[in-house]
Amino acid sequence: METALDRFRELLRIPTVSFANPALIDVARFDEFHSALARLYPAVHDALDKEVVAGHALLYRWAGASAEAPLVLMAHQDVVPVVPEEWQHDPFGADVVGSGPDAAVHARGAIDDKGALVAILEAVETLVAEGFVPQRDVYLAFGHNEETAGDGAGAIVGLLRDRGIRPGLVVDEGGAVVEGAIPGVRRPTAMIGVAERGVMTAWLTARETGGHASTPPSLPATARLARALTRLQRRPFPRRISPPVRAMLTTIAPYAPQPLRAIFRNLAVTGPLVAAVFARLGAETNALVRTTAVATELHGATGENVLATTARAAVNIRLLTGDTVASATARVRAVIADGEVEITVPHGSDPSPVSPWRGEPWRRIAGAIASALDEDIVATPYLQLGASDSRWFTAISDHVYRFAPFHLTRGEREALHAHDERIRVDVWLRGIGFYRDLISAS
Ligand SMILES: [Zn+2]
Repeated sequence: METALDRFRELLRIPTVSFANPALIDVARFDEFHSALARLYPAVHDALDKEVVAGHALLYRWAGASAEAPLVLMAHQDVVPVVPEEWQHDPFGADVVGSGPDAAVHARGAIDDKGALVAILEAVETLVAEGFVPQRDVYLAFGHNEETAGDGAGAIVGLLRDRGIRPGLVVDEGGAVVEGAIPGVRRPTAMIGVAERGVMTAWLTARETGGHASTPPSLPATARLARALTRLQRRPFPRRISPPVRAMLTTIAPYAPQPLRAIFRNLAVTGPLVAAVFARLGAETNALVRTTAVATELHGATGENVLATTARAAVNIRLLTGDTVASATARVRAVIADGEVEITVPHGSDPSPVSPWRGEPWRRIAGAIASALDEDIVATPYLQLGASDSRWFTAISDHVYRFAPFHLTRGEREALHAHDERIRVDVWLRGIGFYRDLISAS
């Protein structure tokens, strides 16, 4: 008989790969994925209404006893590209490697994000088959271009908004169950993203008034641009403990050893010290305590013996809760302090609002973690550093959380968007129980 694992592996073998260049996307793979879903989850496709949105995004509605404050379970169908030579196993082979509790499925998307997508469908399929009717409507929202910051989830939110739907709880990918995220804390922590940083790109342009590479001006456009970038690098955005990070540290405090416990409990006094230590501890903790900026693309002359008429740089900026696209742009302008460097921001999104880490929706997530995963796990609010599709939903819901119910090692987390992405079979199966409990408790 076909098992949940068989279905998972079959779906992992369909390479629904996202590329920034739309011409590279094999849309037939998404059609194939949709037909496989319909075949593998007959009860879901029988009991739920399905809509295809913006080309390949999927929205399912499972009618509950009430249409008020529905539950939305999100995941995305697309995966990031692979470099096959780097992988120990075929990235679209979905091989099961190892045995016992260590047996793991190796595949692109095993965690990000077919792990969640398929676990959600497994949970709903079995509940429907058991005749379960949810108290409130349940929506499944599966975007198709999350990895390229596409429009799939945004189009779904537009539809729901037009219908006047305000979800009572939205759960998307994000944090996981981890160990050692906070130094000295032994208990496993479920990192539930209550907010995510904003993202913007500032383009800096320096122009040349004329001249020749053999007789360069004293400050050519390339040097002017380099000076601007150096100033930005030397004066990073200020450090501070923002509300989601404060919430994380105070939640974790009782489980931290002394003196950390006292330090995390007295952030009104120790906050600046903690922010300073986090900034030095590593790239990830640094990103928790400040808006970060990094130059990514650089453009200069078209040839090695040609003076650049324009020199351009893209600066990718991730905004900490409290900053905005406007405030960061103003700061970049002030730090560069050069009116000859033009600054434009073609697109950007402010940090998400912060969802509460108290109250009924939060308790529903924490309850499902305790019942389906492990009672020892500490449910902890945190600030998600990257952007996800869930940001769209903050427009129609005050309770948006970013968490996938998988207990992951550091090595497993590092394989995301890299090579040898994998998830342990036991860990994945327990994740199905989380979604079942979350739906049943809603
Ligand atoms: Zn993802």
